[in-house]
Amino acid sequence: MSDFPYADRFPVNRALPDHGRPREEILAELRTMATEEDAFWETGRCSGTMYCGDHDHYRFLTEAFGLFAHVNVLQRDMCPSATKMEGEIIAMALDLMHAEAVQDATPAGMVTSGGTGSILHAVLAYREHAAQRRGIDRPNFVKPETGHPAFDKACHLLGVELRSVAVDPHTTLVDPAEVAARVDANTVAILGSACNYGYGTIDPIAELGQVALEHGTGLHVDGCLGGFILPFGEQLGYDVPPFDFRVPGVTSISADTHKYGYAFKGTSTLVFRDKAYRNAQYFHLAGWSGGKYMSPGIDGSRSGGLLAATWASMVHHGRDGYLHHAREIFATADRMKAAVRSHPELRIMGQPTFCFSFTSDEFDIYHVNDFLRERGWRLNGQQYPNAIHMAVTRPQTQPGVAEAWETDLADAVEHAHRQHAAGAEAFSSALYGGVAGGLTTEVEEFIVAVMTDMLDAQQSVPPA
Ligand SMILES: *Cc1c(COP(=O)(O)O)cnc(C)c1O
Repeated sequence: MSDFPYADRFPVNRALPDHGRPREEILAELRTMATEEDAFWETGRCSGTMYCGDHDHYRFLTEAFGLFAHVNVLQRDMCPSATKMEGEIIAMALDLMHAEAVQDATPAGMVTSGGTGSILHAVLAYREHAAQRRGIDRPNFVKPETGHPAFDKACHLLGVELRSVAVDPHTTLVDPAEVAARVDANTVAILGSACNYGYGTIDPIAELGQVALEHGTGLHVDGCLGGFILPFGEQLGYDVPPFDFRVPGVTSISADTHKYGYAFKGTSTLVFRDKAYRNAQYFHLAGWSGGKYMSPGIDGSRSGGLLAATWASMVHHGRDGYLHHAREIFATADRMKAAVRSHPELRIMGQPTFCFSFTSDEFDIYHVNDFLRERGWRLNGQQYPNAIHMAVTRPQTQPGVAEAWETDLADAVEHAHRQHAAGAEAFSSALYGGVAGGLTTEVEEFIVAVMTDMLDAQQSVPPA
């Protein structure tokens, strides 16, 4: 299965070329690959990932990025602009998350390298804060099972025990009482998602806030996906319960600028109710021979370009810009969900908004996925139960895409009935679906092979 992409069309570099190539030739090669690959999602048939999709906006961000791409924001004496841009990104994120509702502490935030970066820093902040203030040296973190794997990764990296709580299979939501039952004196924080990635559903944040307050622990709200769109859905009158600092007990929120903030990949915001959490995770080494060292987060050198592009995206959109896109995305999602509901053999998981997942109790939903793939759709596969998910983004709001969804989905349902009657096994089920009896060694070996092939491409082409 290993394959070196483009080996038949462009030079393969197995070592630094002896002689450098002209810039124009390199750019032509890159342009060819980028243009062909963009064509894949420009159809609007790809779930999530391309949140913006507007090439004019990308050109604008690229120009903003280019002005500061070469700047290292670790050296603030050389780039006061970074302090302005980062501070304003944090302030705008705090404003969006209703920091004005906080009376008992000073809210604060930071800009990180992405959703995983925000989650890593949140878990680190809770671990350190609890160690310093509560003397906890065997920390644990309680997550609804639907919480993003970045929490498992953060706990793994930071030596925090992760306690996973099963969700109700019908609503896809966690029962706050079950979360409370897993909390003990060593719990540094619990999690609620607004919304989770898999089902697009919003955990009962107000009740989780009560659990956090009763037990004297933190509550992180993962708004990586929803943070920059749900507030506008609320404004539009959709059923979005508050999940931000208006809710007592919420102590931190992650919201990705590189998703519905329509910035470039590589930034996210993390905001805290109380500055003390953020400050607890600072790192400094005052006695180093190379000089006094400090970094406000896990990263060392960072590019000023990412701050500039993120800042530019936020101030370009403003509240009315984000509201405009949210209106179109929510309306498109409503139409796409209505198409799913029009087929009684399909079932939407829980009560999602702009991002939804569906399954079938009559046939393997991966038959539907197989068919949709042939029509150029790229949906994400889920398991336990098998389901497929669609995060509606701006590319789906283009004219004709929702109509194509209605037609293609109807044809896919017919296909699934035929396949089911014939006793056929769904193709993508084997790749993405759940394995009966849980994780097998073969699945783990397969996953390791996929990652290894991705990194070892230079070994996969026979030498010429
Ligand atoms: C995307 C996402 C993350 C992780 O973000 P990355 O930017 O991929 O690191 C975390 N939580 C949710 C709900 C997400 O959708």
